Amino acid sequence: MQFAGNNQEDDKSIKRIGIIGGGAAGLATARAFLHANDAKHAHVQFEVTVLEARPSIGGVWKYDSPSTNQQPKSRPMYRNLRTNLPKEIMAYREFPWGGNDDMTSSYVTHADVHRYLENYANKFNLLTCIHFGCTVTHLKVVNKENHNASNEEKKSDDCESWPQISLEWIDNDNTTNRSYQQTFDAVCICNGHYAIPSSPALPGLTNFRGKVLHAIEYDDPNDFVGKTVLCVGARASGADISREIGGVAHRVYLSDSTCEEMQSFGNVVQMPRTKSIDENGTIHFANGKDDKLWSVDDVDTIIFCSGYDYSFPFINDESNLELMATPGERRVRPLYEQLWHAHHPSLTFLGIPHSVVPFPLFELQAAAIVSQWTSKFGDRSSTVHLPPLLERIAAADRDANSGGPKSKGRVVDTHYLGSHQWDYCRKLATIAGIYDDAMENYIATNQAIYDRSSMERKSMQPGERDSYRETRFRRLDGEQSYELLYSEMQKETAAGI
Ligand SMILES: Cc1cc2nc3c(=O)[nH]c(=O)nc-3n(C[C@H](O)[C@H](O)[C@H](O)COP(=O)(O)OP(=O)(O)OC[C@H]3O[C@@H](n4cnc5c(N)ncnc54)[C@H](O)[C@@H]3O)c2cc1C
Repeated sequence: MQFAGNNQEDDKSIKRIGIIGGGAAGLATARAFLHANDAKHAHVQFEVTVLEARPSIGGVWKYDSPSTNQQPKSRPMYRNLRTNLPKEIMAYREFPWGGNDDMTSSYVTHADVHRYLENYANKFNLLTCIHFGCTVTHLKVVNKENHNASNEEKKSDDCESWPQISLEWIDNDNTTNRSYQQTFDAVCICNGHYAIPSSPALPGLTNFRGKVLHAIEYDDPNDFVGKTVLCVGARASGADISREIGGVAHRVYLSDSTCEEMQSFGNVVQMPRTKSIDENGTIHFANGKDDKLWSVDDVDTIIFCSGYDYSFPFINDESNLELMATPGERRVRPLYEQLWHAHHPSLTFLGIPHSVVPFPLFELQAAAIVSQWTSKFGDRSSTVHLPPLLERIAAADRDANSGGPKSKGRVVDTHYLGSHQWDYCRKLATIAGIYDDAMENYIATNQAIYDRSSMERKSMQPGERDSYRETRFRRLDGEQSYELLYSEMQKETAAGI
């Protein structure tokens, strides 16, 4: 292996890149590194290894029917799910959804998304670098001999001074249970954030004599025919699951801390925050405004639709690395720009921001990561290099304690982006040296469609038919806008329904 920074065509450096996970983030990252290999004057070549625990790509979008062997379901995708973002923005920039686009609804099924990801992987020849059935068990930062604090401080914007990372994994298909180890120049963590259910502590939960589930275990509304169900949490999954179950259940209570008054919408009843369960099994709800109380005693099943924790089980005390991801906090630190490990930028964490449009964000995060390597070898002069170590640490510290960009952010909102995601995308594109008029049109069009889609979705009442999912969009990037090819909601509004 030879390291070089000159412009000799035959003097290419080889960098080994490890990617943990072959979901939407891992695929976009593999593509970004492999794409850089094709650049005409590339003076660095990347050898990409994707380690994927499952036998297939796609992560959460690979739906498996729950097994009949009584094991609790451990993957969040459920059988009837349709996306809550339109496919016109739920796409990689270089790979729009093809086919008979205008004729089908913009909100597609999980099987459609999985097929889209398979097509993406095939189109860009990604499967050759994916090792299926390989679960990463240990990650370790390998200190290079010359890698000490003062050295790093001086040249920390130089990827050559960043430490290598070693990974250990087991091959799940291997009957001998053999483990493997390899050292990489950079590791991108794309392990997803929908595997470890998070549920709020609910005082008196042990008094409840019915069934208690987390949304990760939910699959089929028919399991709830005639039941009375309480969904705790009314964000994306709570809203969808309560709507599905509402079609067959006797009654569904949908409880959320943002709700101030009990209100019925057919058999779906919106409730304030679930406060406690008393010794008789009665469930109490309270609002945050005036501590008004409501109580119900007819619930059969509680489903916690309360999200997931970040988790990196392959990082531990022996990893030679400072990383904090406390359960319940929904905060990972220390990260520079929610992506690079502030101390060791050869280690990156993709997909940490939430309330975003994930696929385009993954693509831009990957481009920003790759640019730090290609620019070192003279490929992209407009790349913005990461600042030195102390600046990165200070910025990571500020971000971790800011409560996120929400005006009254809490710790759990540290990685919430929402309407701030567009500036984050612009920043990533600028770092990557690819921010231009066309990129601005792309980001602004994503924003326009996202805003319209959110407005339609949020105007739905609990339990109401999800007519927003019938809308069809067409992108108009040149105008930073979209055309509405069809909208049931617009028709309903026009008809005064
Ligand atoms: C129910 C549900 C609905 C959603 N709806 C939408 C939607 O409508 N629109 C949208 O854009 N997004 C939606 N999302 C968000 C979705 O998670 C993202 O779109 C995106 O697919 C996340 O990709 P990822 O690669 O980060 O994670 P994942 O898809 O979770 O992929 C992570 C991969 O890493 C692998 N892995 C994990 N640990 C290891 C290890 N130790 N070793 C090796 N491999 C490992 C896993 O097997 C998995 O394949 C939804 C998510 C859920 C759960």
